[in-house]
Amino acid sequence: MRGNPEAHRMIAPGTLAGVLELMAAEPGEWTPIAGGTELMVAHAAGRLTAQKLVSLWGIPDLRFIETRPESIIVGGGATFRDLRAHADISTHLPLLAKAASWIGSIANQSRATLGGNLVNGSPAADSSPALLVYDAEIELVSVRGNRRIPYATFHTGYKRNMMAADELLYAVHIPLRFGQHRQYLRKVGTRHAMAVAKVALAATALVDGGLISEVRLAAASLAAFPTRLFQTENALRGKPIAPETIQSARQVLLAEAKPIDDIRSTAKYRKGVAANLLEEFLLELRLEGSPK
Ligand SMILES: Cc1cc2nc3c(=O)[nH]c(=O)nc-3n(C[C@H](O)[C@H](O)[C@H](O)COP(=O)(O)OP(=O)(O)OC[C@H]3O[C@@H](n4cnc5c(N)ncnc54)[C@H](O)[C@@H]3O)c2cc1C
Repeated sequence: MRGNPEAHRMIAPGTLAGVLELMAAEPGEWTPIAGGTELMVAHAAGRLTAQKLVSLWGIPDLRFIETRPESIIVGGGATFRDLRAHADISTHLPLLAKAASWIGSIANQSRATLGGNLVNGSPAADSSPALLVYDAEIELVSVRGNRRIPYATFHTGYKRNMMAADELLYAVHIPLRFGQHRQYLRKVGTRHAMAVAKVALAATALVDGGLISEVRLAAASLAAFPTRLFQTENALRGKPIAPETIQSARQVLLAEAKPIDDIRSTAKYRKGVAANLLEEFLLELRLEGSPK
């Protein structure tokens, strides 16, 4: 059943300070709304329980992309269209640029924000695997100040995270140290565009002297929230890219992955596809060596 607009109140203070003061005055009472591409779908379906909405749309302090010598900082209010249009993102963070191109349609990308994608916390969120293998950090803000945490620790359960009730996702810090790494991102869905991932795998790796010296793996739709595959990484680090290494890494991934059955796919299919994606990445790594 469609939601009733009169059941909700929305205000737009227009500044970051105004939003934070409101959220501090009544913690948990005000739900931020950025592009609204998650919340408006919930409203249309009659599932929007939040009664008080505070708009983040158009606040310049949240919508920015800043390149520094060591990192790129993306404001929580930057849209996926902003990310796709930014030359430094496509040059230095190709996995994030690729993920941005997958989000919904062009119209959707003009509203959908990076902050909304991460805070919504879908296990299938397209931006998450890339940010996990890039070792991104999340910067949260409230009237109490700012704090930074590794993105790998942000999600705590299905659509749950460790933000306090008065905090906003201010920015995502992405280090620029993966230029020499082989980088991989592949999403398997029903079709190329406008499809939620059945499974996605991101990877970065370095090969040194024939051995995998560094490797990071992250997946969408293999657990209750987007996750790094630390056990599978451990099974690969220091190993040659030999058939035995690939086979044993596949087995570790199959044991580490905890996907669910849902309307889009089965857990068994998701695990099998994820193992195949891992093998594809490792074979590319063997063929091309490193650095790329
Ligand atoms: C047609 C359609 C297609 C889609 N396709 C995809 C897809 O292919 N891949 C994909 O990953 N997603 C997809 N989505 C989902 C959605 O577009 C994204 O998750 C988007 O990034 C959400 O951002 P938003 O700004 O619209 O979030 P909103 O709807 O405004 O908010 C989502 C959640 O985040 C919170 N929030 C937003 N910004 C902040 C902030 N800065 N700090 C704290 N909390 C915040 C809100 O309170 C809310 O809980 C699709 C949605 C639609 C409607």
